[in-house]
Amino acid sequence: MRGVTDFAPYPSGLRLAGRRVLVVGGGQVAQRRVPQLIAVGADVHVVAPEVTPAIEGLVGSGEVTWHRRGFADDDVDGAWYVLALTRDAEVNARVGALCEAQRIFCVRADDATLGTAWTPATGRHEGLTVAVLGNREPRRSAALRDAIMEGLRDGALEARGEQVRTPGVVLVGGGPGEPDLITVAGRKALMGADVVVADRLAPRELLGDLPADVELIDVAKLPRGRSAQQEEINRVIVARALEGKRVVRFKGGDNFVFGRGYEEVIACRDAGVPVTVIPGLTSPVSVPAIAGIPVTHRGITHEFTVVSGHLPPEHADSLVDYSALARMRGTVVLMMAVQNAPAIAAVLLEGGRAAQTPVAVVCDGTMPTERTVLATLGTLADRLVEEQVKPPAIIVIGEVVRVAHPEAFDG
Ligand code: SAH
Repeated sequence: MRGVTDFAPYPSGLRLAGRRVLVVGGGQVAQRRVPQLIAVGADVHVVAPEVTPAIEGLVGSGEVTWHRRGFADDDVDGAWYVLALTRDAEVNARVGALCEAQRIFCVRADDATLGTAWTPATGRHEGLTVAVLGNREPRRSAALRDAIMEGLRDGALEARGEQVRTPGVVLVGGGPGEPDLITVAGRKALMGADVVVADRLAPRELLGDLPADVELIDVAKLPRGRSAQQEEINRVIVARALEGKRVVRFKGGDNFVFGRGYEEVIACRDAGVPVTVIPGLTSPVSVPAIAGIPVTHRGITHEFTVVSGHLPPEHADSLVDYSALARMRGTVVLMMAVQNAPAIAAVLLEGGRAAQTPVAVVCDGTMPTERTVLATLGTLADRLVEEQVKPPAIIVIGEVVRVAHPEAFDG
């Protein structure tokens, strides 16, 4: 004859919003379960003499009620669902027995087979809940859940005919170059596109994963000249969206950081084309980070300023107040500045920054050719020539560079 433990669990979706759920125990397991219960709107009561700081934070923000004491038999009264998550098997057994008597489903952390309910590995995607119940193999169910979620996100798994195909333009920031550094939302939009309009600095490797029928428009091949090119991009994205296509405008970093992204937003709005934005990891923050340089550090700087150096300081069209920048004390991050860096260093020195101020030039961030050239504000111009630095590069000026490379600047 088959015993109780030979049967598979019966899957069911509990609708716990506004319903009392009792969590006995305040340790690591409770810390994992409580936010999930809050997310579905449950009225969560935690009974435990002590809780982890994370749970205490949820108590502080009023999302959970904490009964700061040991378990008492009448705690289960009125609960719809109970989780016995203490490290003490006897307490869990007591909770389980009381639940059994009242016919309340109860999860047991010490021995799942003794509980009347199991917690599946779960994930959520566009209104769907995925739940995988393993047969006492939590790693296997978590791995399967991860595989399903990844398939749903990147479009590899799709319910036939369920695909949402809203035409329009999505501005997607691709991050600094390495394909893993795009956001989950960005990757998903890219994989679901009919047309991709990609820049030179957009993470190229990701384009290799696009389905074969996607139209790929390479901006580097459009007619040259900055304004003509931008007009052509605006025209193309609007035209394709009006044909009913899903268009992704794909750029390196973030589209709104020296990426002319908002010009494209305006062009779409003017044409009545729906446009959304998926931010990316912008290079002035992420490229130094990848190279091991923080743009801020406690006790060292309370500001960092990102500057486009594409115009020399004395240029009539420059919008940068270099004398103000020179008077400030924090980190300066220069973009598009390889050519004008000597002139920029000169005005910063003139305005009061010290010649010994450490500088790091990070070239080709995240690419196989990535390298960091160290200099000071005084030696920067010579170092760029010696090292034959070419764009793209991020130039970080300030004491944070010394924090990352003390050996190069001290002693
Ligand atoms: N929208 C982009 C920036 C475009 S401007 C962003 O948010 O990052 C182009 C400049 O970005 C380059 O001249 C260079 O200064 C910087 N840049 C972008 N990617 C880079 C990388 N991988 N390594 C070094 N610099 C990079």
